[in-house]
Amino acid sequence: MSNQTLEELRAKIDIVNKEILDAVNKRQSYIAEIGNVKSKQGVHRYDPIRERDMLNKLIAVNEGPLTNQELEHTFKEIFKVGLEKQEQSKQKELLVSRKRQPENTIVQINDVEIGNGKPAFVFGPCAVESLEQTAAVATKIKSKGLQLMRGGAFKPRTSPYDFQGLGVEGLEILDTVRKQSGLGVISEIVSPVDVEIACENIDVIQIGARNMQNFELLKAVGKTNKPVLLKRGLAATIDEFIHAAEYILAQGNPNVILCERGIRTYEKATRNTLDLSAVPILKQETHLPVMVDVTHSTGRKDIMLPCAKAALAVGADGVMAEVHPDPAVALSDSAQQMNFEEFDAFWSELESFSQK
Ligand code: PEP
Ligand code: MN
Repeated sequence: MSNQTLEELRAKIDIVNKEILDAVNKRQSYIAEIGNVKSKQGVHRYDPIRERDMLNKLIAVNEGPLTNQELEHTFKEIFKVGLEKQEQSKQKELLVSRKRQPENTIVQINDVEIGNGKPAFVFGPCAVESLEQTAAVATKIKSKGLQLMRGGAFKPRTSPYDFQGLGVEGLEILDTVRKQSGLGVISEIVSPVDVEIACENIDVIQIGARNMQNFELLKAVGKTNKPVLLKRGLAATIDEFIHAAEYILAQGNPNVILCERGIRTYEKATRNTLDLSAVPILKQETHLPVMVDVTHSTGRKDIMLPCAKAALAVGADGVMAEVHPDPAVALSDSAQQMNFEEFDAFWSELESFSQK
């Protein structure tokens, strides 16, 4: 083959390349239009039956030399690019997405604004055990000028034989304490049937790590207007976490606070691995406030303070930690709750750090 013939053939390939490029781009623009139609209909974009049908139609008219297998391989790659583009635009459509709403969501709990640039702090016992115990923590928290308290009424425990929380009685204790103290109270519920009673007795509904993908619970709290503190699942990816929040917003409730609480890894030095990188990612990807629970993530009182500082340094809107009047006799998480003396030291350092 002469050099001239080679050049001529290469020129022809260049022309065909351009034709393929134009055809693929044209295909992409049709896909975008189809995506818009499907999104209005609320249907999922990927349709494997349609994909099979397209491949069969191409195989029927294939004159070679491409084998049918090579044809499938080539066109599946083209289909994949289209799907990836659809996925990207779907992300932009999420209600929680920063692309959809550039300004920060601020969640109001009484007089406290979570997500306004000033860090918020939530302390309190792992579980509500009695009125006296809860009121004692409330007094301690108030003495520091803080305005929010946590306390579990429904405790999702690994063993069914461990203390399960006081249930509705616990929520009522929180209601009594919030009325006495003026503090905003946060507590977890684990079932949609308790949404109504929670709305009456507490200020923020917590959805715990074990229930991050309890979709019926997410939908139920989404139907209220109550602030929701949504904790990251034990083994949830950031994407799954974001979509769990989307379930709540999709039902009409915009008042969602995300909470990083550590994920399960092979590391045993801490109870869970605190994924601080999730904080700036969640702040970038979503417009929701992000808090960090330093108790359930680290499980270690000796490193809670530096981890709390680190959380604020990477942009967290707040920190949560557990405090109990007498952790030695606590009915849950006895080893990791701070006693009042430890809390005094923790808070005095964290307060000055947060004001810097
Ligand atoms: C809690 O905050 O009481 C709790 C049980 O945490 P998590 O769901 O993150 O384990
Ligand atoms: Mn706990």
